Amino acid sequence: MSSRSDVTQSIDTVKVKKVETKPPVSSYFGINTFSNETMRDMVSEETFEAFKRWQECGEIISMQQADEIAHAMKDWAISKGATSYTHWFQPMTGLTAEKHDSFITMTESGKVMEKFTGSKLIQGEPDASSFPSGGIRATFEARGYTAWDPSSPAFITEVELGKTLCIPTIFISHNGDALDKKLPLLRSEDALCKSALKLLKLFNQKDVNNVYSTCGAEQEYFLIDRAYYKMRSDLMLTGRTLVGASSPKGQQLEDQYFGSIKERVLNYMADVAEEAYKVGIPVYTRHNEVAPHQFEFAPIFEKSNLAADNNQLLMDVMKKVAQRHNLACLLHEKPFAGVNGSGKHINWSIADDKGNNLLNPGETPEENLLFLTILVSIIYAVHKHSDILRASAASAGNEHRLGANEAPPAIVSIFLGEQLSKIINMLENGKIEKAKKQDIIDLGVGLLPQFMRDTTDRNRTSPFAFTGQKFEFRALGSNMNISTSITVINTIVADAMDMMIERIEAKKENYDFSTAVMKVLSEVVKESKAILYEGNNYSEEWVIEAQKRGLPNIPSSPQALKAYINTKTVELFERQKVLSKIELNARYTIWLDIYGKVIDIEAKTLMEIVKTQILPAAYSYQNEIASGLEIFRDLMDDTSIQVVNGALDDRKEMFESLTADIYYVRRNLKELDMLLKKAEIMGLEQRCDFLFSEVLPQMEHVRKHVDSLESVMPDDLWVLPKYRELLFNA
Ligand code: ADP
Ligand code: MG
Repeated sequence: MSSRSDVTQSIDTVKVKKVETKPPVSSYFGINTFSNETMRDMVSEETFEAFKRWQECGEIISMQQADEIAHAMKDWAISKGATSYTHWFQPMTGLTAEKHDSFITMTESGKVMEKFTGSKLIQGEPDASSFPSGGIRATFEARGYTAWDPSSPAFITEVELGKTLCIPTIFISHNGDALDKKLPLLRSEDALCKSALKLLKLFNQKDVNNVYSTCGAEQEYFLIDRAYYKMRSDLMLTGRTLVGASSPKGQQLEDQYFGSIKERVLNYMADVAEEAYKVGIPVYTRHNEVAPHQFEFAPIFEKSNLAADNNQLLMDVMKKVAQRHNLACLLHEKPFAGVNGSGKHINWSIADDKGNNLLNPGETPEENLLFLTILVSIIYAVHKHSDILRASAASAGNEHRLGANEAPPAIVSIFLGEQLSKIINMLENGKIEKAKKQDIIDLGVGLLPQFMRDTTDRNRTSPFAFTGQKFEFRALGSNMNISTSITVINTIVADAMDMMIERIEAKKENYDFSTAVMKVLSEVVKESKAILYEGNNYSEEWVIEAQKRGLPNIPSSPQALKAYINTKTVELFERQKVLSKIELNARYTIWLDIYGKVIDIEAKTLMEIVKTQILPAAYSYQNEIASGLEIFRDLMDDTSIQVVNGALDDRKEMFESLTADIYYVRRNLKELDMLLKKAEIMGLEQRCDFLFSEVLPQMEHVRKHVDSLESVMPDDLWVLPKYRELLFNA
């Protein structure tokens, strides 16, 4: 095995292939997706129209039409060199799953031919027992089905020696319970659409037929050299460094964020972008992030369902391309202690089928009243359901960001910016007796500027910020599937819109329409304003203030996840027909179970690294120091050698402190082992709470002494690549 220094020497010699001039992106964007345009050219007009109706109104196509599309899709895929297909889905574990089947069938005469039928396209049956169902499916009924989601186009993935047609699907149990993250998202889109259409009708906008949410997910990540990565089993097994002393230089100088992007990294980014474009992911910006060797990709926003599929696909592409460049792409939320972690901001808005963004203020007072009604619905929704929104970002990895001293805090709040805050205040306090056009304008409501983004005053610390025409939810971890948070946002907003409609309709009996709306807005702002906060969300003051306001602040993931099963959530999700009680329970159990497993793996990996890599090196150094000390003491008997006072004590002190660190490492390790044994016999909830409150802190105790050893041990005895190498040598 090569040593750290061999690896360091070899890094500069990684050769990058010279790139020829690339064709324009427009000439190959989506070349590997079976788009509607491609389909239109390959199937009959009736079939294509039927397919469009399925996409837009949920009217399912006939089996004959499915056969025709399947046939076209197969021909297209084969013409691109694909040999097999897979139903691509998103199980509740957060990864994507695929089971590949070949296109070939055997004819009666024993001849092999390619065939793909409508029934195979529409429905698949993966070995469902290997995916967690959270108790939805008893083991005797292990069957689960994947069903084609026509709203997301099929695409081809390629490796050097093979191409595969991937068909985006939902994953359901045999009685229709959602076993994945995509079906709830689709259901939440329906809920949002229904409620928003009702609201638009109430505001006399009758020509809209469809409303959907849009999303652009900014994806942060770290890049490190792959050779170092392979030398650290903590990174390979858990995604994060479990030990590692801080580098003298970290992110203090902030020189990375504004610096130019290194050539090696740019090559990687260009390669990722090219792969992403081929499968139709509209990657738009790429830049450095705050921490050393931390970067970000952001796509142009799309319909949320597509954005969610594309983000899963992008993460996959990022990891695969990294290998080609001898790099490792780290998507863990906190790969390095003491250095910023990686998040994923989801930019969320609502659009109608005319292409209007409903979070854009309008041109007339009436349109602005609608805009404010939607805005206030969102404020109400986030206030009432901040617990489930927080839970949607809960995971073992993200726990190092939320609630630790890092962006954003575990307390959910909304930032509106100066202009909108003023208007909301006016709404709350404005005297509303009647609200004719002139009164609306007097309240400032008629005068909303088109461009609301307050560039001078952007609050980067807020978990849920209005950033002009969209909200940015910043609590998600870099590794997470965005479907869950979008599902929650869609659902709580749909429910809040229903509430607004009901209240406005009740008030309409006694007031004219505008006055009724203004009165409801004022009322709802009063009820929900505790969620609005314009200050620094990382400050100690905010923690105290939020507590006064009664806002939940739950750093522990296991505790945060409980929001999935409380009565308020269950009623909400059942009312909006997004998730049933059983489905919510399943999610709670699965995500808790994953949390427990992650911490358990981390603790065991830490113990192994310490026992097999840290302690052996520390013992040899201890021996070296001990024999040195002995020789030193002997030499001091020689009167011809003049030794300064204190020199012997100094050597002794060094030995003592080294010995103490070794002792404490071992003592804490034994304690950790004991805690893990205790945890093993606990029930799931108790175990996860125990892992959070006892095991994680104990791992930190071990780490503290290991890191202290790292800072005194000779460089050549230290086996694990150090922070300064991981973060600055690539
Ligand atoms: P910022 O500077 O606030 O990060 P950008 O305009 O650069 O804003 O956009 C950041 C992300 O927000 C991009 O991924 C972009 O596609 C997305 N975005 C912009 N408008 C919308 C919208 N209406 N709905 C959803 N996402 C959007
Ligand atoms: Mg942003």
